[in-house]
Amino acid sequence: MKYKRILLKLSGESLMGEKQYGIDNDRVKQYAEDIKAVHAQGLEIAIVIGGGNIFRGLSAEKSGMDRAQADYMGMLATVINSMALQDALEKVGLKTRLLTAIKMEQICEPFIRRRAVRHLEKGRVVIFGAGTGNPYFTTDSAAALRAIEIKADVVLKGTRVDGIYTADPEKDPSAVRYNEISFKEVYAKGLNVMDMTAFTLCEENELPIIVFDMNKTGNFMKIAQGEEIGTLVK
Ligand code: UDP
Repeated sequence: MKYKRILLKLSGESLMGEKQYGIDNDRVKQYAEDIKAVHAQGLEIAIVIGGGNIFRGLSAEKSGMDRAQADYMGMLATVINSMALQDALEKVGLKTRLLTAIKMEQICEPFIRRRAVRHLEKGRVVIFGAGTGNPYFTTDSAAALRAIEIKADVVLKGTRVDGIYTADPEKDPSAVRYNEISFKEVYAKGLNVMDMTAFTLCEENELPIIVFDMNKTGNFMKIAQGEEIGTLVK
């Protein structure tokens, strides 16, 4: 295996599968199987999930809500997704812990960095819920922050496209995928990898990012083994 400890970021939307809203159980099961296979190779796995399939603060603000209030709702949405994934992971036999940035003692542990690291060392899959716990941030920022805190080797951003392209591949058929690109080039070309707060955090802390297609089963394993099927930003 190429890495020892990884942080996997999944968007909330990826959990929708073919649905328009909410959680597709088959998709979550597929993710759980893929995660189990990689875990079986001895990798330590931490996960951050978004909430966009349920609630997005920015969209709610546009329809008149107070932004901070809406963002807290978005963070709660990430906890719902985290619980769904936790259930699926346990159904396939993995040991898990859900740690959240907002305390919810009846359903999960509060985020404590040392405890998170200990869980990973013991072979538990750790899910970080409720983003950073702060409004005006995103779960990409939470992924970057937690990855740095736990000293992950890499952030794996699982999306529905298989990497970063020279242009939007859904609009421009001549678009080509980068195997590897530097942080500087991403800025210079105005490419969209993560929001800027998250991206800068990764750059400043020399944390590489790999963007890959998580929806094809087996891809997560290929990435963990170091195959160049996505785009590496470093
Ligand atoms: N959010 C937040 N602070 C955080 C992480 C998330 O306020 O640290 C809120 C924000 O409103 C966001 C929502 O939670 O719109 C869902 O997260 P995100 O949009 O990052 O999910 P994704 O796009 O990955 O599904």
